[in-house]
Amino acid sequence: MSDETLAGRLAAVRAGIAEAADAAGRDPEGVELIVVTKFHPASLVRGLAEAGVQDVGENRHQEARAKAVELAELGLRWHFVGQLQSKKARQVREYAHAVHSIDRVSLVTALGVDDGRTIDGFIQVNLTEDPGRGGVQPEELDPLAEAVLAAEGIRLRGLMAVAPLGEPARPAFARVRALSERLQRLAPDARALSMGMSHDYPDAILEGATHLRIGTAITGNRPGAG
Ligand SMILES: *Cc1c(COP(=O)(O)O)cnc(C)c1O
Repeated sequence: MSDETLAGRLAAVRAGIAEAADAAGRDPEGVELIVVTKFHPASLVRGLAEAGVQDVGENRHQEARAKAVELAELGLRWHFVGQLQSKKARQVREYAHAVHSIDRVSLVTALGVDDGRTIDGFIQVNLTEDPGRGGVQPEELDPLAEAVLAAEGIRLRGLMAVAPLGEPARPAFARVRALSERLQRLAPDARALSMGMSHDYPDAILEGATHLRIGTAITGNRPGAG
């Protein structure tokens, strides 16, 4: 029987991560869990922190900033995972530990400033033909990576991707892994792979994911989001 509490769902996902890592012959310590808390109140994030979560993800600036300010004393690391307007980039830097959705040079220009801090950056790759899905097309990856490497205040960690709807996730994640190998020729330290969500994280782990972004499997359904 499943334990339908926040702590119970978190434990179930942690067990699922350990099982997938084992199947992949990987150390589960090499897989970081980011709990995506968008649409959920700060009280839920507080509950996660009490259950030992240190990394949380949000996809809208105003909501993320409000929670980061309210929960500042918890020392959480805030990961920005949504599409980001350049004019909001400086503000996101103020609370974000990482931005997972770098997808264009103009955003790098806005985000990369010398303010005495360094944030982690992931380049999001679009695995579909639809520009509305966010992310850079694979053929434009190299110039974008050069821009991030040249920017102040951003440490390029690797790639981020969302598996396309309506096709098996594992081959999509394998494409990201191949792109990562290409990226590492330009940036040998940028080995991280931010991929894997509630429904596909075991496949992501099998293809080398280092950062999982998991929401509903832990938080339950998002209020007001269907
Ligand atoms: C919402 C979101 C997630 C988490 O999705 P779930 O299916 O709830 O696990 C992960 N990544 C991004 C970019 C998201 O917007």
